[in-house]
Amino acid sequence: MRTHYCTDLSTADIGKSVEVCGWVNSYRDHGGVIFIDLRDRTGLLQLVCDPKDSTQAYETANEVRNEFVLRAIGKIRARGEGLVNPKLKTGEIEVVVETLKIENPSVNLPFVIGDKAVGEEIRLKYRFLDLRTEENFARFLMRSKAAIAARNSLDKMGFVEVETPMLTRATPEGARDYVVPSRVHNGEFYALPQSPQLFKQLLMCAGFDKYFQIVKCFRDEDLRADRQPEFTQIDVEMSFSDQNEIMKVGENLLKDVFAACGKEIKTPFRVMEYKEAMEKYGSDKPDLRFEMPLIDVLDIFARSNNKIFSDPAQNPKKNRAKAIVVKGGDKIFSKRQMLKFEDYVRKFGAKGLAFFQVKDPNETAGQDNCVEFDGISCKGPLVKFFEVEDLKELRKRGNLEIGDVIFFGVGPKKVVLDYMGRFRLFLADELKIVDQNALEFLWVVNFPMFEENDDGSYSAMHHPFTMPNNIDDEIDEITSVAYDVVLNGVELGGGSIRIHRADIQEKVFKRLKIEPDEQREKFGFLLDALSFGAPPHGGFAIGFDRLIMLATNSASIRDVIAFPKTQKAQCPMTKAPSEISSEQLKELGIRIKKEEK
Ligand code: ASP
Repeated sequence: MRTHYCTDLSTADIGKSVEVCGWVNSYRDHGGVIFIDLRDRTGLLQLVCDPKDSTQAYETANEVRNEFVLRAIGKIRARGEGLVNPKLKTGEIEVVVETLKIENPSVNLPFVIGDKAVGEEIRLKYRFLDLRTEENFARFLMRSKAAIAARNSLDKMGFVEVETPMLTRATPEGARDYVVPSRVHNGEFYALPQSPQLFKQLLMCAGFDKYFQIVKCFRDEDLRADRQPEFTQIDVEMSFSDQNEIMKVGENLLKDVFAACGKEIKTPFRVMEYKEAMEKYGSDKPDLRFEMPLIDVLDIFARSNNKIFSDPAQNPKKNRAKAIVVKGGDKIFSKRQMLKFEDYVRKFGAKGLAFFQVKDPNETAGQDNCVEFDGISCKGPLVKFFEVEDLKELRKRGNLEIGDVIFFGVGPKKVVLDYMGRFRLFLADELKIVDQNALEFLWVVNFPMFEENDDGSYSAMHHPFTMPNNIDDEIDEITSVAYDVVLNGVELGGGSIRIHRADIQEKVFKRLKIEPDEQREKFGFLLDALSFGAPPHGGFAIGFDRLIMLATNSASIRDVIAFPKTQKAQCPMTKAPSEISSEQLKELGIRIKKEEK
């Protein structure tokens, strides 16, 4: 129906006859001539309907309203002197319309297309309208190009795309399953896959050697800005490879995918031990676009003469004392602001946030809570608890100079690392020191195999099919051959070398207190496969939505999913989830117990 997309046209086409189609973005009547901004997926083009050129076009234009669907035939001409719109790609030209056809009118819209102030609930209810903008189309075009690039990249490296079942049984990736009731087998349920983990391992047992799939995964967990109940992974597995080789495949893949998004990335990525990431940045996905590390001060706190600090510092296995220095912070933040920072860390379990300011001794002469040495003055209520020698040591570790501020967190290891890690990000945000254009990739390696739950039981940190380095050691000491890839503080994906021997797999299940009966019942097929000559293998998965979110600088994962769910896991458009008919329930053998009010 058309010769060109709207923004395909330029001054090079002046004089050409064209046919264009699209929606009325806006229209205005200027003294008997009607101007229409026609919009298609590429952008806007101005139509001019002047009765002097065509009465048919002018009369039809009189009827159009926003979002009417039009088809226009006419000639391209240059816009008049002073009428060029530099903001538009097609701002130098317009179409003098000879024939205008309304393909379809539109009723009044619930919101103006592209209005950023519209609430998300209403935008998702009318997602097909919300998606009508050029900006949104550009995102999905990039998503498509990235998926194609991923396929080509993996194809080039010898990987084979294989589909795995959606109706299956639980895969333990640490979330709750979405389940589907069986009609044929009343009382039995399929689980939607949390990932194709077990199937890709079975494909290795089948000798496929290199597998990939761009695949939907389903996890019923608490939703956050970067989580959705169903999401897409680029899922990869390969045989007879070690961690380094698999990480290379991951880097090549990411390089090709980012290139498709117009971003060049440098490989190889940095590699950091899990322990270092946690101790130095308080996170297993550190944002390395800026430094500001956490400094260990446990030994210094152990010598302080305040029990609040010194008691926990006696137990370095369980507790941590960490400091974070803001260079020149005393000039940037007011004391009031610094006191307020405590509110932030309290949200994450901190009991308080001590700090002191490093001042010019002339400035603090005669003031309380100050200790002077070596040409500086440390000021804060806590300085009096430390010997000067220890303050000197602090100065050395924190490289403290006049104008700096040093903050401290003390307490249980897990809590302190978590809130000081978050505080590091919070400070970077306040200080606006993060380069928004940087792409800082990082591999985090050598994860603990197990993590302790609040009730004292243990879960697999990745999943229970991850190869341990030292399965016979103390449970807290066992590490795994696992690696996560992090970009700008966001976990993009991860993977591991898998257990390919049934005896080790059984040991891991035993450590997780999965009894032999349960092992057979849940994973018998895997244990069988491992006993029939399974090759050494490993792989990874990259969160594709997150990747596109970062590559397109989108604020939310929902922006890069065509029909996403809300934070409450609902779809306002289709109204899913919804009740089903009593006939369906009967067929499924299900009776709904209504919550008593
Ligand atoms: N199955 C894992 C996940 O979905 C990725 C992997 O280990 O390959 O997180």
